[in-house]
Amino acid sequence: MDHFDLRDGVLHAEDVPLSLIAEEVGTPVYVYSTATIERHVHVFREALAGVADPWIAFAVKANPNRAVLATLARLGLGADVVSGGELLRARAAGLAAEKIVFSGVGKTADEMALALREGIGQFNLESEPEAEMLSAVATSLGVTAPVAFRINPNVDAGTHAKISTGKSEDKFGVAYDRALAAYELARNLPGLRVQGVAVHIGSQLTDLAPSRAAFEKVGLLIAELRANGHEITTADLGGGLGVPYDPSLPLPPSPAAYGEMVRDVTAGWNVRLVFEPGRVIVGNAGILLSRVVRVKQGSADPFVIVDAAMNDLLRPSLYDAWHHIRAVVPRGPSFTANIVGPICESGDTFAKKRPMDQVEPGDLVAFMTAGAYGATMANTYNSRPLTPEVMVSETNWAIVRNRQPIEMLIAADDLPPWLDEEAA
Ligand SMILES: *Cc1c(COP(=O)(O)O)cnc(C)c1O
Repeated sequence: MDHFDLRDGVLHAEDVPLSLIAEEVGTPVYVYSTATIERHVHVFREALAGVADPWIAFAVKANPNRAVLATLARLGLGADVVSGGELLRARAAGLAAEKIVFSGVGKTADEMALALREGIGQFNLESEPEAEMLSAVATSLGVTAPVAFRINPNVDAGTHAKISTGKSEDKFGVAYDRALAAYELARNLPGLRVQGVAVHIGSQLTDLAPSRAAFEKVGLLIAELRANGHEITTADLGGGLGVPYDPSLPLPPSPAAYGEMVRDVTAGWNVRLVFEPGRVIVGNAGILLSRVVRVKQGSADPFVIVDAAMNDLLRPSLYDAWHHIRAVVPRGPSFTANIVGPICESGDTFAKKRPMDQVEPGDLVAFMTAGAYGATMANTYNSRPLTPEVMVSETNWAIVRNRQPIEMLIAADDLPPWLDEEAA
């Protein structure tokens, strides 16, 4: 559910007409709804009712905008970060260090030192050499790092290959059958304090069975580790719950169904459960607002050329992702069209042969469910400045990331001395 609705024939974000934001800020622009973010946090928490003190660490990579993170910090969430940059952004937004989990296969010694100085709650280690490096960094700082190993359970998450992370051939985690040996190694490393087990099998999961299979393996491992004398106090079940993109497809499992499965599988584990939801918290809370530049005749269906492009919203070209596209002021009739951006790549296509609201040049369109992995993946390809972002709360709205002037992009490059006539 979201808070983007037609009122008097105009699509609104909460109480604010999207046409107003387009006029004042220009397009393309991302628009986030505070009420939708709050609702999704509430729904996720409700789904976990009965789980003692769940540690909900928002996956920052889904949407690292400071206003989004600050909204989540107010709601008491923690963060799952995958870089030193994300860690600093999370801290700058007011997220508590002890509620931060650090994931990722390539943490550098500098990033480890930063996280240790900040005092984060858990490092999710993804290999034995990473454990050795973290121990050395922690020892040199005179501290002990709280760690879990991320286990690769070798289950097929049934999602797009590029966002599937739990198969043995994927780069993530320690193979399940090597896990006991990895914990043995960690026990003897002086800079580490083993506290948990972690797993994350992928994103946009639309079936609970693979997650259940992965969690069951975590449960077995916890029992084996305890039998070997390890003290396990946390179990991190990762993120990945899917959201509805295409209204014609069956709904993905609800947070309530997910919560029920979690309670069932983890009964008796006697650990603090950690969750790393990203998409399910922010996906439906954002849209990308764009204007139709022109409509061009195609061999069959027309090409609707909008002013947003793959640099603003990469998901369709990267993952063949499907976004519902709505007219902000629907004219009534619908048509079938190809929706494309202005970038010089055929991959800059948002939708092919899409039945949608009929639009004409100058009309506004909204790409729905663009709050996760949208603005965060934006780039400046074709020298298009990063997409600005707006946050709405009831009747209020504010720009939470400015549109960068093109001069900033130009000024970011430097000439080498032999090309710099002013320096010569
Ligand atoms: C990306 C990621 C998540 C969040 O995934 P969603 O599908 O957005 O919920 C959680 N944990 C880890 C380790 C991740 O890499």
